[in-house]
Amino acid sequence: MIVKHHKTTKIVLSSLLIMHLLLSIASAAQSKYIEIIVNNISRQQLIELTQHGLIIDHVKQESVTVYIPPEQISILDNMGLNYRILSQNRLKINTDGYPSIDQLKQTLQSFESNYPELCQLFEIGKSYEGRPLYFLKISDHVDIEEDEPEVKYISSMHGDEPVGLILCLNLIDDLLTQYNQDTFITELIDNLEIWIMPLMNPDGYVHHQRFNMQDIDLNRNFPDRVNDNNNTTAGRAVEVQHVMNWEFAHSSVLSVNFHGGTAVVNYPYDSDFNPYARYSATPDDKLFREMALSYANLNPTMRNSSSFESGITNGVEWYLVYGGMQDWSYVWMGCMEVTIELDNEKWPVYSKLSQLWDNNREAMFNYFTWALKGIRGIITDSITGEPIHASIQVEKNDFRVYTDPDVGDYHRILLPGVYNLIVSADGYVTQYLTDVQISDGYASRHDIALRPDLNISVSDIINMIQVLSLSKPVPIQYYDINRDGQLELTDVIWAMHYLVSNL
Ligand code: ZN
Repeated sequence: MIVKHHKTTKIVLSSLLIMHLLLSIASAAQSKYIEIIVNNISRQQLIELTQHGLIIDHVKQESVTVYIPPEQISILDNMGLNYRILSQNRLKINTDGYPSIDQLKQTLQSFESNYPELCQLFEIGKSYEGRPLYFLKISDHVDIEEDEPEVKYISSMHGDEPVGLILCLNLIDDLLTQYNQDTFITELIDNLEIWIMPLMNPDGYVHHQRFNMQDIDLNRNFPDRVNDNNNTTAGRAVEVQHVMNWEFAHSSVLSVNFHGGTAVVNYPYDSDFNPYARYSATPDDKLFREMALSYANLNPTMRNSSSFESGITNGVEWYLVYGGMQDWSYVWMGCMEVTIELDNEKWPVYSKLSQLWDNNREAMFNYFTWALKGIRGIITDSITGEPIHASIQVEKNDFRVYTDPDVGDYHRILLPGVYNLIVSADGYVTQYLTDVQISDGYASRHDIALRPDLNISVSDIINMIQVLSLSKPVPIQYYDINRDGQLELTDVIWAMHYLVSNL
């Protein structure tokens, strides 16, 4: 009896100690989550953890990272999982060399002031703790919108994955300094509107944590066709809201979401209606694979990957993510986005960055050229000639790209081949482009004038006749010759006949 009592007390005490330890780790990281490594987990167990709402990250053959609130740790125990809690020491990061938020701001501002004809700095909103979210636009005629595809690179939505932040700054620097020096870079700037956001989660970066300061994982917080089928900003993390609002006001056609923690190019879908799916192919799967390969092939670490065949993976094939940015971009915004994991270390020592830049430089530049392939053009109103907001889709493929309504330009990335395309807009007659030949190289141009759908019914015409003949209204029994209330062309003729004969 005494022994049993003693034992129980001991268990209670040690649980309290563990809880205390976990809470202290969580508070040190300024997040409600603690980082845990789970070993030898099955795909089935992984799905179960996802369904508990835990955040899964970087699934590897032998282990997986799980972010979990300390009070939910019993979920892992109940599942009989073998795990270890990462200590605070592991979470210590060497930030030497990485820019402060002020230094980042100064760097971006100096780009703008040194190259005012090529770049403009936009603050698209503030983080939860009030730090600015910067987007730098680079283009020739940077102050106007042209008939050019908009491409965007966004990095470090996970605050503890800053490799892409540094690479984006290098990329900007090269773009600006090599303009009119390097033919390829000049061509990119002349033909694209390039938008670069080096740091989407400045608060997380400052606090060295994955989450924003609302404790939200930004790459689990976007609309998702499976469990959050609602393309509005309501109730989302502030940083997510700013990016969504920016995208609503633009029509970017190509984008990259840069992360760290492994080296791979991950393409949609990240989620699937069937949680047990092994692969979730978009209708553009072949194209996405080509795009992903084109990046990974130019990156020696990815190309020689032992974890991912050819350095690429389908999102679901790797692990299920609900609310990721890439699926949202593709499903709702007509933008082909991939997620690129840049390095096995999330936050490497700064001296490693020059090697990482060497590994990614060519791939990052080359990837832009996808936006210039496929089919492009301007869609206008056939009567006014004004640009309109329209969508273009390939027959039997639900994915749509949208015109930028200011200019009316559309850009649909396609692999070489022959396609049937559907062009539609509210209030216009849908147009079909059949047997369109797409070759490799620059996009073929098809400008389209859509005819307004006047949509006038017979009864509308009769109403007009009535209005025009106020002095002599036409008795309905005269023109509704079938007396069925259904108005047809012959009814119009009879109504006009009445008016003419009663002049
Ligand atoms: Zn990440």
